[in-house]
Amino acid sequence: MKKLVSLGVAALSLGLAADYAAEGDLWWAHIQYLADDSLQGRDTGSDGYRKAVEYVAGKMEKFGLAAAGSDGYLQPVKFETRQLVEEESSAALVRDGQEEKLERGDATLSARADAGTVDAPMVFVGYGLRIPEANFDELAGIDLKGKIAVYVNSAGPAEAPGPVKSHAGSAAERWKTLKAAGAIGVATIMSPRTPVGANPNAAPDGTGPAAGRGGGGGRGPQKSFLLADTTLQEQSGQNIALAITRAGGEKFFAGSGHTYQELLDLAKENKPLPKFPLAATLRAKVAMKRETAEAPNVVGMLAGSDAKLKGEYVIMSAHLDHTGVGRPVNGDSINNGAMDDASGIASILEIARIMKTEGMKPKRSILFLAVAAEEKGELGSRYFAMKPTVDARQIVADINLDMFMPLFELKFVEVQGLAESTLGDTIRDAAKEFGVVVQADKEPDQNRFIRSDQYSFIRNGVPSLAFKFGYEFGTPEDKIFHDWIRDRYHKPSDDLNQPVDKAAAAKFDRMIASLLLRVANTENRPSWKNDSFFKRFAK
Ligand SMILES: [Zn+2]
Repeated sequence: MKKLVSLGVAALSLGLAADYAAEGDLWWAHIQYLADDSLQGRDTGSDGYRKAVEYVAGKMEKFGLAAAGSDGYLQPVKFETRQLVEEESSAALVRDGQEEKLERGDATLSARADAGTVDAPMVFVGYGLRIPEANFDELAGIDLKGKIAVYVNSAGPAEAPGPVKSHAGSAAERWKTLKAAGAIGVATIMSPRTPVGANPNAAPDGTGPAAGRGGGGGRGPQKSFLLADTTLQEQSGQNIALAITRAGGEKFFAGSGHTYQELLDLAKENKPLPKFPLAATLRAKVAMKRETAEAPNVVGMLAGSDAKLKGEYVIMSAHLDHTGVGRPVNGDSINNGAMDDASGIASILEIARIMKTEGMKPKRSILFLAVAAEEKGELGSRYFAMKPTVDARQIVADINLDMFMPLFELKFVEVQGLAESTLGDTIRDAAKEFGVVVQADKEPDQNRFIRSDQYSFIRNGVPSLAFKFGYEFGTPEDKIFHDWIRDRYHKPSDDLNQPVDKAAAAKFDRMIASLLLRVANTENRPSWKNDSFFKRFAK
């Protein structure tokens, strides 16, 4: 009896009327196209990416969304690409006029910096962080003018909430701070705390100059992407960026009174680090091949039904690009990106289809947004957030899907940004409707809330959420999740031959559709909680 009663109530909602098996197949069909080998991993600017764009724009049109780009469904985005010319580039340490050439294995020069010749002193600045909220300032009293800041790229010991630390530790924010202190470049030491491959949703080329993962691996130097619009470039003023490797570490610190190993050991425990000038100066010549590329965002709109509220926009976003063709693994070199993030694109298409075919009439307008260049450092979403095709002040929320991991039943949904805004309350209501339990981010150290496209909107003051299928510690689902990260994340095996729970994905899509409808229909637009760190960005 009890069960019957609850079924009767739930039948009123979107949930139980749906045929999850059939809808799961429709969802999967999009992934079958987008993650097919013929799309070559959808690298930003490639032919495969263009095919993906045509597919998504075509489906948006078919499902009845209005074109909401600047050119039909498209918003063209221009990029500048930079690739190191290794034969013409060199770096050396200079002590007492003696030059010690750095070998290729000692340090990796980044193509993100502005290039040219550099001859400058280096200062070790610990983690290179200034976090006023935590009374933590590693740059206090340090003269960085005209110098290269050497730092360990990890979170450090500051006592502050996760979002505060991850924001301060983002590549853009760290550089802004170092640049303000006078630095002309950076040399980074990779965090000894981050195990390889444990970084879901990291933007490999945007998290630091040591980019080495993803497309282009094993095919010569990595190509870095920057937005061509110089006012949106966040690495400006950086004359040199290099990553110090384990092999080259001790060379940099010789004569400084400290060893590389000693600093690494402290950093491993997130302990405070000393600050000191290095004995050597860095002399480098960096040559770059510069080209341009273009890759559009794709935007479709379900217009709002309320005369007043339709001028406000809820964004439903996912990234269309992946990392392209890379180093072969077991003979396969195509990074198909089925879960990352063809799955998210498939969901936004399915959600659009469901909302249109079922005649849902949201009061606010909903923008379905497929962005370019997430894997190049969240560039497509940043471009859209800064140069939206609608009034920027009227964007009320971003709901982003990036690798939501439908690998098992949907019993729990893990929500990033749950405590930050009123959207956290709204997802609780939507999840409840589907009998899904909401969980907070279980691995806050991974900083996932600021590591995908929602961050582009968050930094513009827009409340946002992102999601993963949740699980409980020590369960088979916990193992499936982490095995996936280890075995398939940013590898050719994130392809069409992997076990996925399609019906669970369909249920998730219905739940997100319900969330969107709730966000679009509530009287007040979503707002940051008063104690949220991100409230400061609200305009
Ligand atoms: Zn992704």
